[in-house]
Amino acid sequence: MQATTQLIHSIPVDPLTGAISVPIYQTSTFVQDAPGVNKGYDYARTGNPTRAALESVVAQLEGGSTGAAFASGLAAIDAIVKLLETGDEIVAMDDIYGGAFRLFEQVYKKFGITVRYVDTSDASNVFDALTPKTKLIWIETPTNPTLKISDIRAIAGIAKAHGCLFCVDNTFASPALQKPLALGADLVIHSGTKYLGGHSDLIAGLVVTASPELGQRVKFLQNASGAILGPFDSWLLIRGIETLHLRIRQHCASAGAIAAFLEQHPAVDTVYYPGLATHPGHAVAAAQSKGFGGIVSFSLKEDTQEAATAFVTSTELFKLAESLGGIKSLVSHPAQMTHKTIPVERRKAAGVSDSLIRLSAGLEDTEDLIADLRQALDKLKINNKSWKHISSLPSGSLASA
Ligand SMILES: *Cc1c(COP(=O)(O)O)cnc(C)c1O
Repeated sequence: MQATTQLIHSIPVDPLTGAISVPIYQTSTFVQDAPGVNKGYDYARTGNPTRAALESVVAQLEGGSTGAAFASGLAAIDAIVKLLETGDEIVAMDDIYGGAFRLFEQVYKKFGITVRYVDTSDASNVFDALTPKTKLIWIETPTNPTLKISDIRAIAGIAKAHGCLFCVDNTFASPALQKPLALGADLVIHSGTKYLGGHSDLIAGLVVTASPELGQRVKFLQNASGAILGPFDSWLLIRGIETLHLRIRQHCASAGAIAAFLEQHPAVDTVYYPGLATHPGHAVAAAQSKGFGGIVSFSLKEDTQEAATAFVTSTELFKLAESLGGIKSLVSHPAQMTHKTIPVERRKAAGVSDSLIRLSAGLEDTEDLIADLRQALDKLKINNKSWKHISSLPSGSLASA
C-alpha cells in the first residue's frame, strides 16, 4: 500500500458509533465500573481517545512504535531533555531552533545538563564532540533558516556506537519527505504547529519513539509533567495530517520553482535551498529525503536590514509572520525576528546575514507566488535610494517567539 493510502486509513473509524471522523472526546474523566475497572481510560491527562488516535496516526506515519502529543513543539523537546540526568551532556546542531537553544541554555543548564554545539552537517564534528557524559545527540535537518543538511544515517551510526540517544527534529522536512527512525534515529520530534497541522491554526508538539521501551518513558513524562495536547487541537491536527502528502507535494513544487527564479534574479545574492545542486547538502538531502521541502531562504546583493525590510513589507501574498508550513505563504526576516536576540557575531557566523530572508511557500498557485516575489524585488530596485526612509519594524511586536 502506498504512503497516502496508508496514512488516510491509519485514522480510525470510531468503534462505538462508526463516525468516520474521529470524535472529539471533550471530557476530563471517565466513569469506572468498579475501582480500577474501566474502558481503557481513567483520567484525560493520562489518556484521551481523540489524542490517542492522533498519537497512533503519527507513530505510524513516522514508522515508530509510540507517539505522544504535547501542547507545543517546545513541550515535546522538554520531555526528551527530561529523559536525561544531572551531569549528562547533549551534542546539538549549532543552529538549532532558537526556542530549543533557549530551553537548553536558560532552563536546563541550571539543572546541570549541558550542551555542546557543533556543525553536524559534517558528521565527524559529532564524533569529535562526544564525551563519556554525552547521552543525547540532537539535530534538525534541514535547519532554520539556512537549511543545512545533516546525514541522519551517519550520525545514527555514531550514536549507536557511543550508546547514546539520537533525536531528530523533523519539523522542516515532515514525515512525508523524511523518516529519521528508518535511518536509525531513536526519537523524532515535531512542532505540529508547522507542516503536520498545515493550516496555521494550532500549536502542538509530537514525539515518536522507535522502541516501545523508550515510548513508555516518554509517555510517563507526558503524564507526569502534564503538557498534553487537548482533544480539540488533537482532532484539528488529525484533520491537518489527512492532507499532508498532497500539501507537501505542492509546497515542494513551489519552493523549487521559487529557488530557481531567485537564483537568476539580479537583486539576489545567495539562495539557500537543498534542492539546488549548488547547496552543500544537496547530495545527502537527495539520498535521505523524498523532496527538498517548502522553505527557501535568500540574501540580497544589498546586504542591509533596510533592504530586507523594504522587501518583506512589499510582498502581498507572502504575509510577514513567524512560523511556516501553512497554506498561506509567509515571509520573515530572521535578523529582526526569530534571530533578533542572538548576538550579531553569532548570528552572522551561522550564516544569517543582515539581509537574509526566509520564505515559506504556501499552497497558492506557483506563478502567483513568483509574480509577487518579482514585483517586491523590482520595487526594491526602484526604491534603492529611499531605503533609508522606510522606518524600522516595530520591535515590540516582533520579539522572538
Ligand atoms: C516551531 C519549531 C519548534 C517549536 O515548536 P512550537 O510548536 O512553536 O513550540 C521546534 N523546532 C522547529 C524546527 C520549529 O520550527
